[in-house]
Amino acid sequence: MANYFTDNPDILFNLDRVDLRALADLIEGDYSDAATSEFAPENAEDARDNYLNTCRIAGELCAGPVEERARIIDQEGNSCRNGKVYYHPLVEENIRDFRRAELLGISIPRKYGGLQMPQVIKIAVLEMVSRADASLMNLVGLQDIAETIYEFGNDQQRAEYIPPLSAGEATGAMILTEPDSGSDLQSVRLKAVPPPDGNDQGTWHLQGVKRFITNGNGDILLVLARSEEGTVDGRGLSLFVCRKDDTITIRRIENKLGIHGSPTCDMVFNDTPAYLVGQRKRGLIKYVMSLMNGARVGVAAQAVGIAEAAYRTARDYAETRIQFGQPILQFPAVYEMLTDMKLRIEAGRMLLYETGKIVDLQKHLAARVQQAQARGEAVDPEMKMSAKYYERLASVLTPFSKYFNAEMCNRVAYQGIQVMGGS
Ligand SMILES: Cc1cc2nc3c(=O)[nH]c(=O)nc-3n(C[C@H](O)[C@H](O)[C@H](O)COP(=O)(O)OP(=O)(O)OC[C@H]3O[C@@H](n4cnc5c(N)ncnc54)[C@H](O)[C@@H]3O)c2cc1C
Repeated sequence: MANYFTDNPDILFNLDRVDLRALADLIEGDYSDAATSEFAPENAEDARDNYLNTCRIAGELCAGPVEERARIIDQEGNSCRNGKVYYHPLVEENIRDFRRAELLGISIPRKYGGLQMPQVIKIAVLEMVSRADASLMNLVGLQDIAETIYEFGNDQQRAEYIPPLSAGEATGAMILTEPDSGSDLQSVRLKAVPPPDGNDQGTWHLQGVKRFITNGNGDILLVLARSEEGTVDGRGLSLFVCRKDDTITIRRIENKLGIHGSPTCDMVFNDTPAYLVGQRKRGLIKYVMSLMNGARVGVAAQAVGIAEAAYRTARDYAETRIQFGQPILQFPAVYEMLTDMKLRIEAGRMLLYETGKIVDLQKHLAARVQQAQARGEAVDPEMKMSAKYYERLASVLTPFSKYFNAEMCNRVAYQGIQVMGGS
């Protein structure tokens, strides 16, 4: 049976290179969860087996039904009528398949219905999804919403919003961009009206317009909004969580060049009830920066997956297309292009998985430090320094990885077009 994990040994090579057993030790601690949860690993070897099994399941799903549906989804797209988005029926089927395979909360803690696996496993899954259908990655990759709520939300928000996202009963969206605020998110204007009694923890109301929002029709929405009246910069912005309801209208979905399976929404909030995530004024400076770093690694994985698909399509064509009495693969101009494509993909993939490992180390070391502090224990100074070190390294490697792989993907796709001639 076709499988995008087993047919591509470079993914396993990179997963082994980042040392899954060491990551498992960091994530699982003393493996005591195994006593109470049948899904928790008993040791590092068991954890590695679980991780690779998840990759195998995803690889089979991607190489099978997801790949088969991709062309029709991209030709027909989703639709928007009367202020609501309707997924293409095959997009619905993809989401259903991922829900059944339990692949929608890969790095979310078990306590909240997730698989509690490293980021690198999520990266491997996102890469394979993108090889089959790049638009589906935009939806499957929205697991970052749950991760952000886990990291910065309160206990009640975690309990309310994360389990339905992990279980795939709800989808999410990260809602930042506005017509006049793209790269310059500091200028976001969508207004958050505070609760009348002045209690931050009460119900706020959102008013304004957002644009270019992937899956803006989702059920659980993280929204960047201006909470501090009279301010004009990033220090006046806070992050809110709300649910889809009738106060939200989707005006239209963008007519894009590709990835038509992913609805990119133009939307209006008309007094939408919402709740503050974390502290006021830290929305952009802290929470959205973290959310966007997660999304950046996802986009880097998407780029590697698309490049892999382009390379394989071009290579298969070059092997079978006969010109001047021989397969075009045998002409130096063609095989040099294919070699160059493969080399760039492997370099990009190595950077991607290395970045994933560093993000894992950063997140889990920081969590260990926080847990020790919460228990009132003295924190090992070496662990504290390591957590800081990996935080800095992750903040450098994450944009590197997105930049390198997005450019690499464009170049590889262009070379693929050359190999394909007029086909
Ligand atoms: C398919 C798709 C999905 C998206 N999904 C989401 C989503 O889920 N949520 C969300 O909030 N947003 C989303 N976006 C929006 C995306 O984040 C923005 O498009 C992006 O931030 C750029 O904003 P802009 O398009 O307004 O471009 P602009 O900010 O207007 O930029 C235009 C050009 O100017 C350049 N530029 C801008 N400022 C500078 C500067 N200071 N120095 C040098 N060059 C500069 C930019 O690099 C770019 O080349 C999505 C966009 C797309 C296309």
